[in-house]
Amino acid sequence: MKKRLFTPGPTPVPEHIMLKMAEPIIHHRNPEFQEILTRVNENLKYLFQTTQPVLTLTCSGTGGMEAIFLNLFSPGEKIIVVNGGKFGERWVKLPRVFGIETIEIKNPWGTAPSEEEIVNALKQNPDAKGVCFIHSETSTGTATDIKLLSKVVRENSNAMVVVDGITAIGAHEFRFDEWGIDACVTGSQKGLMIPPGLAFVALSKRAIEATKNSKTPKFYFDLKKALKSFEGNDTPFTPAVSLVIGVDIALQEIRNEGIENVWARHELLANTIRAGVTAIGLKLFSNSPSFAVTPIWLPESVEWKKFNKILKGKYGITVAGGQDDFKDKIFRVSHLGFYDELDMITVIGAIELSLTESGYEFETGSGTKAVQNILSQKK
Ligand SMILES: *Cc1c(COP(=O)(O)O)cnc(C)c1O
Repeated sequence: MKKRLFTPGPTPVPEHIMLKMAEPIIHHRNPEFQEILTRVNENLKYLFQTTQPVLTLTCSGTGGMEAIFLNLFSPGEKIIVVNGGKFGERWVKLPRVFGIETIEIKNPWGTAPSEEEIVNALKQNPDAKGVCFIHSETSTGTATDIKLLSKVVRENSNAMVVVDGITAIGAHEFRFDEWGIDACVTGSQKGLMIPPGLAFVALSKRAIEATKNSKTPKFYFDLKKALKSFEGNDTPFTPAVSLVIGVDIALQEIRNEGIENVWARHELLANTIRAGVTAIGLKLFSNSPSFAVTPIWLPESVEWKKFNKILKGKYGITVAGGQDDFKDKIFRVSHLGFYDELDMITVIGAIELSLTESGYEFETGSGTKAVQNILSQKK
């Protein structure tokens, strides 16, 4: 059976990248590797649309976020965190472990924070040193208007703007410098199309200054060390060499496609999925949908376990289920990273077959037809 992954991380890895990573390992202090890292560092700047350093850390995305909290803030300092899903919850809890006080802006799952909420939170907490947003909340497939809210934070405070861009980078327009972002992280297994194990952290001048004053205990995640090594296209510790070799290829391909085209492709694919599931009578979960992942309500008559068993067992398609209150109620289809137009016809076709076999009634083929309509209208 041909297996196809439609989950928002890990995402599918192109075969030629897997093969490149399977070549004999090289030493990370050799010129051969330094040449690769130099190119990776340059292309990461392009990816984040910045002239600032983008650090490559050997850890998953969460490690990258932890590094940001540990290096920008100190125990006793206060930050505001928007929480509208599973990852929002994590960013509320994580800084507390290190004595950083987090003020929570709680949004119902499937909704994005508003300008007023941010302004009010800043008014109530004029001493806040940072505001943390999730550009694309993966548990709810919800996108936040980072361009607007970053401006709102800058106009109303001196707080630093921290962005979890883990499923947004590569899917949504993102301009680190132009939008006045201070810190942003992404992970290798999401829009970058390689296996898990690397986090990439961009830091503004202000954020770099803050790393010098932060008193939070840290060693491995001390970004002062990483920044110093970065200047010489080096890393303080052994990096995940194979993954850096993999991301080098992925970044070159993103650059060749053109970042604007990569964003546009994700928007197009998201539109096809939304049209496809809507045509078969399903409802979208989020009122501010992401271009990376689309959560969909399961029809009431369909049991998640049965549907998923057919989708996965018979058709080889892996999607993500719902989490917490939405477990067994929604499912999430990812279109982040290495996907093309025909993949969308495939996944909607398989969803149609699995729904039919789960007892849901609709006009078979109406979903794939809607996908094709969008694709043929393009340009
Ligand atoms: C995947 C993800 C994370 C966590 O990243 P890990 O690599 O699993 O540590 C955090 N935030 C968002 C929005 C994600 O999608």
